[in-house]
Amino acid sequence: MAFPKPIRLLAAACMALFLFLLLQMMRNPSPFTAPGSKAKDEFASFVRDPNLDETLEPPEPLRRVSGHNYDADNVHSDRINATLLSLVRNKELKELVQSMQDLERTWNHKFNYPWTFINDEPFTEEFKKVTQLQTKAWCRYEVIPKEHWEIPSWINKDLMHESANYLEDQDVQYAHMESYHQMCRWNSGFFYKHPALADYQYYWRVEPNVHFFCDVDYDVFRYMQDHNKTYGFTVTLYDSPPSITTLWPETMKFVAANKHLLAHNNAMGFLTDRERRPEHNFQANGYSTCHFWSNFEIGDMNFWRSPAYEAYFEHLDRAGGFFYERWGDAPVHTIALGLFEDSSKIHWFKDIGYQHIPFFNCPNSPKCKGCITGRLTDGEAWLNREDCRPNWFKYVGNEWESKLS
Ligand code: GDP
Ligand code: MN
Repeated sequence: MAFPKPIRLLAAACMALFLFLLLQMMRNPSPFTAPGSKAKDEFASFVRDPNLDETLEPPEPLRRVSGHNYDADNVHSDRINATLLSLVRNKELKELVQSMQDLERTWNHKFNYPWTFINDEPFTEEFKKVTQLQTKAWCRYEVIPKEHWEIPSWINKDLMHESANYLEDQDVQYAHMESYHQMCRWNSGFFYKHPALADYQYYWRVEPNVHFFCDVDYDVFRYMQDHNKTYGFTVTLYDSPPSITTLWPETMKFVAANKHLLAHNNAMGFLTDRERRPEHNFQANGYSTCHFWSNFEIGDMNFWRSPAYEAYFEHLDRAGGFFYERWGDAPVHTIALGLFEDSSKIHWFKDIGYQHIPFFNCPNSPKCKGCITGRLTDGEAWLNREDCRPNWFKYVGNEWESKLS
């Protein structure tokens, strides 16, 4: 029996509507399921947003990795703009591997910050291969532009050699080693100008043959950024006064002409202390010689790139003391930070167990292995007197103690 035509048409329309609704439900879960599910779906489509994924892609060079064991999964981490940084010579490969293994084991395998290796001559293929094998992170190998490394034209070579004889008589280490003077000048005024670092803000300086003893489970660069820190140190020491006889007087000349550059909460008291080591202050013409030991530094390069520091470095460079004396980058950095930066922006990384022979920073913590708590040195007894952290605590304070009280 045939249904009348209008009924057949109605049945076909109902079937079509039913099929349409079924299809819709399969594509989109019902609005009658659990509350909030729509929001969840929106979130799911948000995290899958192809545009968002694109913004998390590493910059182009990060994808062109020279080594073969780069961990592609880690390119999506939320690392901040920072690099591990080593000025190093090809012949120091073994010593550098020691430092890399310690730092990778205690910290960087959790964060995979890239390594930047810098040299005044090209790195060998062996150096590149062996260092890249120590890390999943990206390694870069850079040469210093000649004009950043060469002894500047205004330095009188005869005077430089005469001065080195004089410094040697005063037991100044490396007096005759020109490359050492060049290295100190480069670390003072040029490393942060290297084109390969142009896009980075923070760095962690790592030397060959240093040791790291403690598991550090947080991102120290993020700590620097979140707490508005400019510079972090582990060890502070007195310097050899004859290596910096005129550094403080030159600094005072600069400050007299640029008083506006002094930070409000500066560390002048720390820099000029003469109670603990009066003879050092006297020989260094007003500077305590206490300095952040710069073979370890975690810093914000914006400070070194500031007009204030640039003017200060330029003044020192023209004065010639990197070559006629043996000004180190450690006292230069320390004085600049102490004068031109708010001292609350300088942080003691007490929790990073560290050794550069012959001194340690060895915290009392179950996270640390391989060093003796509280011990400053495994060298001769007199070295124990070289620690000047009490000066920092006296004039600036000890953040760790105020946290406990
Ligand atoms: P010390 O710690 O003061 O005894 O000096 P180092 O010999 O450890 O040198 C300090 C840093 O500069 C280390 O990272 C060295 O590898 C590096 N360095 C020193 N001189 C040179 C040099 O002539 N060329 C290169 N590429 N690196 C150097
Ligand atoms: Mn060293």
